[in-house]
Amino acid sequence: MTLRNILIHPDPRLKKKATPIAAVNDDIRRLADDMLETMYDAPGIGLAAPQIGITERLLVMDCVKDEEATPEPMVLINPEITWSSEALNVYEEGCLSIPEQYAEVERPAEVEVQWTDEKGKQRRERFDGLWATCVQHEIDHLNGKLFIDYLKPLRRQMITRKMQKLKRERARG
Ligand SMILES: [Zn+2]
Repeated sequence: MTLRNILIHPDPRLKKKATPIAAVNDDIRRLADDMLETMYDAPGIGLAAPQIGITERLLVMDCVKDEEATPEPMVLINPEITWSSEALNVYEEGCLSIPEQYAEVERPAEVEVQWTDEKGKQRRERFDGLWATCVQHEIDHLNGKLFIDYLKPLRRQMITRKMQKLKRERARG
């Protein structure tokens, strides 16, 4: 397994709509393993392929935050939301591509998602709580959307400027 480099906003690759994965093969499984390792290392609870510069519809997540609890790594290939609850939920969201910036985002409290797993099996499951927020945030990444796109323009611009500064500092080393 290899740790992958996580792209930092703003980056044109984070704004692209990702393409569906045609077949689940060893390359895809290796990519998913790399993404899980990169996510746990960060540490984060979700990572979408576009965040490591691969514009394909694949995401990984594990919303078990308790370090004593058994991890629940999930690999979702070509995920689609098939149902959203009318009830909404607000979570303070963050993103590995927007380090150390957090903001409240309102989303459906429950969603039903259909996807292909790493074995090529069709799955369908209902998510609630943090899992529901996380899966919606990650599917947004596959559509070129970031959580800051839900914020008011002024707040979004402020965060973007901070990220530009962070990237300049990192480039200088
Ligand atoms: Zn994110």
